[in-house]
Amino acid sequence: MSGKKLIIGNWKMNGGIGHVELAKAIIEGVNGVNAKNVDVAICPPFTLLPLIGQVVAHGKVSFGAQDCHTAASGAHTGDISAAMIAEFGAKFVLVGHSERRANHNEASALIAQKARAALDAGLVPVICVGETEAERLSGDAVPIVLSQIAASLPIDCTPEQIVIAYEPVWAIGTGRVASTQDIEEMHKAIRDSLNSKFANAQIIPLLYGGSVNAANAEQILAVNNVDGALVGGASLKAPDFMDIISAAHSIVG
Ligand code: PEP
Repeated sequence: MSGKKLIIGNWKMNGGIGHVELAKAIIEGVNGVNAKNVDVAICPPFTLLPLIGQVVAHGKVSFGAQDCHTAASGAHTGDISAAMIAEFGAKFVLVGHSERRANHNEASALIAQKARAALDAGLVPVICVGETEAERLSGDAVPIVLSQIAASLPIDCTPEQIVIAYEPVWAIGTGRVASTQDIEEMHKAIRDSLNSKFANAQIIPLLYGGSVNAANAEQILAVNNVDGALVGGASLKAPDFMDIISAAHSIVG
């Protein structure tokens, strides 16, 4: 991704109105770091999007949602469309997070439709993929992740429109992190497969996610083809999230 790093915080189903203060602290921290090659975004729950939209308007942090429906509007009780998310000034939407794939039976074909809906609404889909522990132990992690990507990319998308997050399922929220060798191998395989699909695939940000924290961020972010991180738990504490952003800054300035 041309020497830049992208750090995205995924707050998951955490955060009430009081968490606007967390967003403010992150914005203040990012404004103070002057990391011109580090882009930062936070993905709060839907309920906070309007408020977060107002506070990020005053800083260099962007924001996104954690999911969207495939349709722009209609009879889909309880769902939120990409257009609704975009209306508040959001830039990103996560699609295919492993918690959605597991808890809501979301398959890659549906993820591709969600990513298409995001593009149609002017959002950047962060397409999440990753193997389970059993798949890793079977030795098939790379082909499984590559097939998830092939099936989750929307038809006719272009490299500048998308972000991909590789998140081993067994590393999410567990405190266990993939080894830097395994991350490098997977990210290279992803880049190679994208290179065979797109002429300028090197501009697609490839994020690593899975128990990234202040202590391990620098090592992970220095791995070849790791263009940033998708951060869950550690994005809920401003000092920890700022340490991850500083780690990215120390690598790319
Ligand atoms: C995530 O939610 O995408 C994630 C990587 O969570 P954690 O950092 O807590 O493992």
